Amino acid sequence: MNPVLQTRTVCVGDSVYIGSGHPIVVQTMCNTHTSDIEATVAQCRRLAAAGAQLIRITVPAMADVQHLAEIRRRLREEGIQTPLVADIHFSSEIAMAVVPVVEKIRINPGNFHPDHGKARALFGQFLGLCKQYNRAIRIGLNHGSLGKYIVEKFGNTPQAMALAAMEWVEMCIDAQFYNVVVSLKASNTVVMVNAYRELARLMQEKGVVFPLHVGVTEAGNGDSGRIKSCVAISTLLSEGIGNTIRVSLTEDPANELPVAQYLANRYSGAAAPVLSAREESILKAACDWGAPLLNHEVDDIPLEDEYLKDEILQACRRKFYKPEYIACPGCGRTLYNLEETFNRVKAATGEFKDVVIAVMGCIVNGPGEMADADYGYVGEGFGKVTLYRKKEPVLRHIPEDEAIDKLVELINSDSVSRLGD
Ligand code: SF4
Repeated sequence: MNPVLQTRTVCVGDSVYIGSGHPIVVQTMCNTHTSDIEATVAQCRRLAAAGAQLIRITVPAMADVQHLAEIRRRLREEGIQTPLVADIHFSSEIAMAVVPVVEKIRINPGNFHPDHGKARALFGQFLGLCKQYNRAIRIGLNHGSLGKYIVEKFGNTPQAMALAAMEWVEMCIDAQFYNVVVSLKASNTVVMVNAYRELARLMQEKGVVFPLHVGVTEAGNGDSGRIKSCVAISTLLSEGIGNTIRVSLTEDPANELPVAQYLANRYSGAAAPVLSAREESILKAACDWGAPLLNHEVDDIPLEDEYLKDEILQACRRKFYKPEYIACPGCGRTLYNLEETFNRVKAATGEFKDVVIAVMGCIVNGPGEMADADYGYVGEGFGKVTLYRKKEPVLRHIPEDEAIDKLVELINSDSVSRLGD
């Protein structure tokens, strides 16, 4: 194992420390509606009991700032002290309104405003407020949502992701604001690993290294989601990169925690999870073989279990024995049963090869987050779905009960026209 990347320490609330010298922090995110205070408090209670050290909650609208404040108040009243992280997309107004309310705020500053200069000015104001309230932040950039300015300037590569993040990192350093964690997630494990490596290198070069939140975004569910997360996260952790982790699964968020705890325990001696023998053997194999495959040190792996071998090879993008699935974990923006729909999409499309199919929970962020998907099933809510080919919506507002058939028709008709080419 490589030496651990030496980072600054970030303090979230009074009790959670993220950075080298501290065990890896395990976190997750609620998938309830933030406006449903009862359900969100109940889910936070369950997640805290299952070992979540940080719990993220989406704040899609200004009205949710008050909901979040009430959720936090009720949790504290019950004696649950787990720091909360507000998840903000696009709105700098909501990001600033939530600073007095929670311990940590996750933002993508590039999305604060379409005009890049204005986005920088708004981020500067936001940092001033975080300094005043002594908050922690996460600068969270995803492969699929880099923003027009960045893609035009640097392209859509791991290097571009790292360079894009460095702009905000440098603004934090200039503002002497150091309570900063950075993430560069992607659903493609090769892109994700290379982006974090590059960011670690650039921060070392700069002389200020912020802790890294590592994760594979839209990893999906079941064994595939766990394996995809483990191969990439373990590769980075084995290189000493990564201080807090989230394993995103399109399942009950409580299911993410044992996988994250397994990884944290394996690389930093954090508390060990209770796992079934089968689950432990899957996670172990994914962690053992992830780095050698992603680094092209081996081309094959000596596993007798053909299914597990295929899953690990596909997670490392060394063999594609089934469609590549991308599915977001869902959050308070999701207005349909994402997990069930994802399982139905998988069952209906399993025969296709060499296609990337995304199932996304909301029309606000889903299309932008699908990255390099060939087809996207994006729930609009209220029983309607939009289907995408690449980044283009091709069938809008389809009733939910017809959408999977239409998706299969769309892939089939494209396959037929490709054959005719
Ligand atoms: S894409 Fe999924 S996880 Fe992201 S905001 Fe929409 S519903 Fe939430």
